[in-house]
Amino acid sequence: MSLAFDDYGRPYIILRDQGQKKRMKGLEAYKSNILAAKAIANTLQSSLGPKGMDKMLVSPDGDVSVTNDGATIVEKMEIQHPTAKLLVELSQSQDAEIGDGTTGVVVLAGKLLEQALTLLDKGIHPLKISDGFDRACDVAIKHLEQIAEEIDIQANDHEALIQAACTALGSKVVSKRKRELGKIAVTAVLDVADLTRKDVNLDLIKIQTKTGGSVEDTRLISGILIDKDMSHPQMQKEVTDAKICLLTCPFEPPKPKTKHNINISNAEDYNKLYQQEQQYFIDMVKLVKNSGANIALCQWGFDDEANHLLLQNNLPAVRWVSGTDVELIAMATGARIIPRFQEITPEKLGKAGSIKEVQFGTSNERMLVIENCQCTKAVTILIRGGSQMIVDEAKRSIHDAICVIRNLIKDNRIVYGGGSAELACALQVLQYADEVSSVEQYAVRSFADALEGIPSCLADNCGLNPITSVAQAKSRQLSEKNPRIGIDCMDLGTTDMKEQRIYETLSSKKQQIQLATQVVKMILKIDDVIAPDDY
Ligand code: ADP
Ligand code: MG
Repeated sequence: MSLAFDDYGRPYIILRDQGQKKRMKGLEAYKSNILAAKAIANTLQSSLGPKGMDKMLVSPDGDVSVTNDGATIVEKMEIQHPTAKLLVELSQSQDAEIGDGTTGVVVLAGKLLEQALTLLDKGIHPLKISDGFDRACDVAIKHLEQIAEEIDIQANDHEALIQAACTALGSKVVSKRKRELGKIAVTAVLDVADLTRKDVNLDLIKIQTKTGGSVEDTRLISGILIDKDMSHPQMQKEVTDAKICLLTCPFEPPKPKTKHNINISNAEDYNKLYQQEQQYFIDMVKLVKNSGANIALCQWGFDDEANHLLLQNNLPAVRWVSGTDVELIAMATGARIIPRFQEITPEKLGKAGSIKEVQFGTSNERMLVIENCQCTKAVTILIRGGSQMIVDEAKRSIHDAICVIRNLIKDNRIVYGGGSAELACALQVLQYADEVSSVEQYAVRSFADALEGIPSCLADNCGLNPITSVAQAKSRQLSEKNPRIGIDCMDLGTTDMKEQRIYETLSSKKQQIQLATQVVKMILKIDDVIAPDDY
């Protein structure tokens, strides 16, 4: 430690901790990294599959969340270790790209790392392992494409989409209601989907949570639901043929930007000021009304004075509309977001068939629904549930389902779940291993073992014996040449996942295998860790 002085002569202390940096090299570095990352994967392992467990996570300020969603679990775990953080990112990139399969990708990465550790112990060079995994990954992906099947998303009232949604929802807290929720998700996505371009803008599906009622009360509302009511209870409750003025400026007199003092010494001055303020409000309301608007939605608040004036002038208004709602409304109704009253013009107004206050269930609270928007259709899924924890988890689950459906609209190929696809790939990779004459052969074989880790984990989580069930499934896949044999987690009496209708998207499975391999390769390339001592 030493004392130094800066340019202004102020003293500061230099701490010398360069020498105390922790440093790990070579094999020690590989192993420590792998073990740290594996610890994360092990935590997630018990959450995989339809009988997977949930995790309860308590944030530093005491908020509790209960979830089964891999991405959410790792995000809330507050992980310190740098390599373990790579797995967090892994889960999040799966979430961003695909939306579902966030647990599976981390578990697979963990299995691969486990295999890498044994290979390192055998004395195989990390780059050879990497190479082997890479080649095996290519084989697996090719095989996935071969066993994938196209589904007809239109047939039978979109039954296939509903099934895929049910698979995604089956492992969640809300699994009891998966069919109803799955249908809601499918309708919502199809409502906003552009089927000719095979594209879905998920921003047009708003998911609104509201505690109270139960999960069965969850419903789809065609229109944008905002959790607000008219700013004054006596304003009209319904505006038909709405012309919306979307404001991001408050209904209040401008405040001086710099510090000024106003001295009021007599009643006359005070009255003058009051008149002026009134005039401001009156002008604002006039500007809005003159443009032809019949409702004002404001991102900011306004005080009682303004509120009263709005009522008097017959201009219904809503205050404190959230930023995301403002954007959604702008997108759906064609409204321009207006930041200054002077800029209000008739062309900037958004149009909607109606805006009305509605009441749900027995609660007294009201919300606003904006229906028949001019530009694009937007829908809202209103999630109900007994507690904040439930509605939050239901929201995450429905998000997964929505993503699966969107992915199927983009690419209608599926593979079957229950570990069957992984098992089929494992068998293919094993076959390929025999063709590899170099040392990579071991890595290729280990890759197959890691893939088998997924069905084995699924079996473990639902109380089956993982070794016997995987062995049985494997031998049946081989003898019957049927890549759809997996683990019968729900005890339905068949291991054929086509009969069980466990649909997973090809894009998700592909992404899982590719991302997991990538991360493992990345971890295997780190041979030197330099970190501050407190890691
Ligand atoms: P993720 O976050 O990775 O989506 P999940 O907990 O949703 O994790 O579990 C997904 C895994 O569970 C997939 O491998 C899927 O094939 C499997 N799975 C889902 N439903 C069933 C089922 N009814 N029977 C067997 N396996 C299932
Ligand atoms: Mg899932």
